[in-house]
Amino acid sequence: MRVTVLGAGDAFSSGGRRQSSYLIEAQGQGVLLDCGTTTLLGLKALNIPAERIDLVAISHLHGDHFGGLSFLFLEYTYENPRTKPLLIAGPPGTEERVRALHSAMYRELAARGTSFPLSFYEFTPGQPLTLEGCEFLPFQVPHQEKDISLGYRVRIGGKTILYSGDCGWNEDLITHSQGTDLFICECCYFSSQTTFHVSYPQIAAQRHRLGCKRLVLSHIGREVLERMGEVALECAHDGLVIDL
Ligand SMILES: [Zn+2]
Ligand SMILES: [Zn+2]
Repeated sequence: MRVTVLGAGDAFSSGGRRQSSYLIEAQGQGVLLDCGTTTLLGLKALNIPAERIDLVAISHLHGDHFGGLSFLFLEYTYENPRTKPLLIAGPPGTEERVRALHSAMYRELAARGTSFPLSFYEFTPGQPLTLEGCEFLPFQVPHQEKDISLGYRVRIGGKTILYSGDCGWNEDLITHSQGTDLFICECCYFSSQTTFHVSYPQIAAQRHRLGCKRLVLSHIGREVLERMGEVALECAHDGLVIDL
């Protein structure tokens, strides 16, 4: 099973990094975790055909996590016409927001509908679900005031990945990390302490409690980049390939 980091940056593209997106390939399936605005750019930069994606799981409806979907639809319409179905899963409200996004960006195209079967599934936090052979445990994380943000524990190809999405530090990350092969954890800040993003000192202090075999920090913000010399944990970069 292979995880390719298409984008390891934050919403501000700090350090010139692309926004959040991770492609998991296992058992002939392509599962995209998040689809920031630069996802198609990442796929093309890494020579990965966009049709590899069967399923997109969105952690939350912020632009740096779902804003790239409209460009994928464009690619699947004109550059690499798609016929196979695409399933987009995410927190409650995903279908409405994705359709509104596409309509705002390409109104006439959106009005025509997609040439491929497009379906949506909206997760309920805490309720496990298998989609396309991939077992998801979605859990709510602290990041937005009203809208639901999700983290995912994902099992596919005999491996288990924990993905934090965007979130403040919370003890659920300890619980869900137990027995995982990989934990992709956001790390937006260094000196700033907030309740809605993880800082490097927080995750470093908790590393010994995490039950993951490998921890990779991502969604790297400016503060972390500026103090990279003090960072002792593995950090993702655009194009990082993780074989499990
Ligand atoms: Zn973000
Ligand atoms: Zn966010």
